[in-house]
Amino acid sequence: MFQEYDVIVVGGGHAGCEAAAAAANMGSKVLLATMNMNTIAQMSCNPAMGGVAKGQIVREIDALGGYSGIISDKSMIQFRMLNKSKGPAMWSPRSQNDRMKFAEEWRLQLERIPNVDFWQEMVNGLVVENNKVTGIQTGMGLTIKAKSVVLTNGTFLNGLIHIGEKQFGGGRSAERASKGITEQLVQLGFEAGRMKTGTPPRVDGRSLDYSKMEEQKGDELPEKFSFSNETSPLKEQRSCYITYTNPTVHEILETGFEKSPMFNGRIKGLGPRYCPSIEDKINRFAERDRHQIFVEPEGWNTVEIYVNGFSTSLPEEVQYKALKQIQGFENVKMFRPGYAIEYDFFPPTQLNITLETKLIENLYFAGQINGTTGYEEAACQGLMAGINAHLKINHQEPFILSRSQAYIGVLIDDLINKGTEEPYRMFTSRAEHRILLRQDNADIRLSPLGHAIGLASEERLRKAEEKQKHIDQIVNDLKSLKVKPTQINDELKNYKSAPIKETTAAYNILKRPEITFNELKMLEKELGNYISQYEPSILEASEISIKYESYIEKEHQLAEKMNNLEDLKIGEGLDFSLIPALSAEAKEKFKKIKPKTLGQASRISGVSPADISILMVYLGR
Ligand code: FAD
Repeated sequence: MFQEYDVIVVGGGHAGCEAAAAAANMGSKVLLATMNMNTIAQMSCNPAMGGVAKGQIVREIDALGGYSGIISDKSMIQFRMLNKSKGPAMWSPRSQNDRMKFAEEWRLQLERIPNVDFWQEMVNGLVVENNKVTGIQTGMGLTIKAKSVVLTNGTFLNGLIHIGEKQFGGGRSAERASKGITEQLVQLGFEAGRMKTGTPPRVDGRSLDYSKMEEQKGDELPEKFSFSNETSPLKEQRSCYITYTNPTVHEILETGFEKSPMFNGRIKGLGPRYCPSIEDKINRFAERDRHQIFVEPEGWNTVEIYVNGFSTSLPEEVQYKALKQIQGFENVKMFRPGYAIEYDFFPPTQLNITLETKLIENLYFAGQINGTTGYEEAACQGLMAGINAHLKINHQEPFILSRSQAYIGVLIDDLINKGTEEPYRMFTSRAEHRILLRQDNADIRLSPLGHAIGLASEERLRKAEEKQKHIDQIVNDLKSLKVKPTQINDELKNYKSAPIKETTAAYNILKRPEITFNELKMLEKELGNYISQYEPSILEASEISIKYESYIEKEHQLAEKMNNLEDLKIGEGLDFSLIPALSAEAKEKFKKIKPKTLGQASRISGVSPADISILMVYLGR
């Protein structure tokens, strides 16, 4: 019934969809085997994409030729660029999405790729011969052969759902847990762990009183994620609303603490510190008498509302009673209670930088199975695993992104070298070169790389090259376009700009922190006409490269220094125990992680600069 596939992707979540699409678009024959085809690309938690550092990842996926950006654009109901008041390294695109449309658009996208076949069934084992994966086994007893397998099981491996004192098996609300894979992998020698996450209740929007809440509109000039021409910004947007918990809400929630699986020890897995449940927030920040709640619509054509900030696994009647005390929620009707879920993951230090496992050849892990949390984190791993699975079976060089090239590089490097004790999510602070890894330049950074491996289209490459050309041109032209002092003084007095005594290049005026292209436009008719001919995205990127020129230059130099360490290769069979001066911890970590370069060795947690110096000397440097 089945041919031998090049790549089988197990799981149709965010990681699985990107993995299947990437491998197939590069030419592999792909089978997407997933438990339920109706839940392909289901957003398990909030109906939103992007946000701080995550928005940068979506743009990176897009620039490389993945689909998360396009699908987000097609299903968007609101767009905001977060952190606009901070420096450009922090600007982060975020969309509110129509949950049903997001899933529908992903499925349609996958169905448009001729190389993707689908099979709906639970996969409960792998076929492994001589430490090499050669296929999968399904619940109905089928064996399907493949040259490589990408596991993207999300929160489903031995998933256990908790609501108050009730607990039952499940991978997500109303979905079965996956059994068999963890047990087999542990038998093969893998180490497994347990994590937990949670989600808030969903309520009926018709039962809320929005007049008692603060409206949060989308940006006046909404942008989009994708650099391609396939999508356009929204013309109409839906608003979100903000309200707050209060001491009465907290008191009611506290009555459920005794039955809370979080506090009575029933939940063993570690949860995301940065995305705590409401009971956690009340417990940890007892001094605060209110917490913010974002009231987020689930789509264009539904009344369902996601209560962001109210993630909980307390008994459902406690959730309901507490919700009713929130301003604007007095008559609330609950559609679905919040819940917590515990699931198995595999510490990612068991992976190579390609996301291939060290123990079993041609087996890749991507997404929540690696201890991460978030759609964007999962999607980018799926993309990289799909790309590398395809390249490996075609005997091509692996595709690796460095920490100075992409957030995706930071994420994978962190995972495989440091591992993670709690669900890993991306932050801008994790990226040491974040001024280089901006959302505005992801296309310039990555489309040429995506094109070189046969994933990003010719059109994407051309667009990115043209953008760079325009930026160079603008930077150059602004050096010769001049502004006369009188105009500066008259027009810009509202901008607290120091008066300029002599005719000055527009380039130098734009360097002033309070001056943007919008102000520059007002100064001279000629300058205004010149600026108006360019698209906002090109102007934004040019402005950043002028204003932050010296920082960017310094960061490039730093990144180059770091890359020199990456060039220092460590031989495959090096026996670290023969280097007596190394600390015991470094020896143990090196033996386990087997770093391939000095740069990689330097980022392993517990390895000190002294260990690196010793290793450098040993390698003859
Ligand atoms: P998933 O999206 O979970 O997809 C896994 C896919 O694999 C599913 O399609 C499933 O059907 C399929 N599958 C699993 N096992 C098998 C099998 N054996 N055979 C066939 N198919 C299989 N992220 C946040 O960033 N913040 C949050 O607050 C947050 N809260 C969450 C709350 C809950 C209750 C849940 C369930 C998830 C939450 N997440 C949160 C996590 C977010 O949903 C995931 O990070 C993201 O969906 C992971 O993507 P993935 O592709 O790895 O897995």
